[in-house]
Amino acid sequence: VLIDRCSVMKITDVRIFRKESDDRKLRAFAIMTLDDAFVVRDIKIIEGAKGLFVAMPSRRAKEPCPQCHHRVAIRSHYCNQCGANLEASSKLKPHRHDPAFLKGARQNEHRDIAHPITVAFRDAIQKAVLDAYEKCLADEVKF
Ligand SMILES: [Zn+2]
Repeated sequence: VLIDRCSVMKITDVRIFRKESDDRKLRAFAIMTLDDAFVVRDIKIIEGAKGLFVAMPSRRAKEPCPQCHHRVAIRSHYCNQCGANLEASSKLKPHRHDPAFLKGARQNEHRDIAHPITVAFRDAIQKAVLDAYEKCLADEVKF
């Protein structure tokens, strides 16, 4: 048991997978096990402006293509079903140069697939994942 601060659920395992990628903000992926019974994959460790933080698994929000109504990821350039050019039609495009709108749009683009609903458990996840990441880095230095 890595964290014992939350009586509701215990984080019983965290595995870290370092990722070499062009996205320099994305430092690693984590897989977390709850109560030795439930596994959450695709947790991300991201280098933000205020240091490392943990992002829960998410998927890109979708909107229907105006031509074929196939649901495509928001801000796609083309529909991957019918090939329609979505540049002009996307709801996000008209305001793309407004910084306040862009900030909101970026947050709305991704929907969490699994996430904690209490501050206490969010903190517990953050600490467990970052501790495991630090330990992973420390172990690498030894070899
Ligand atoms: Zn389409």
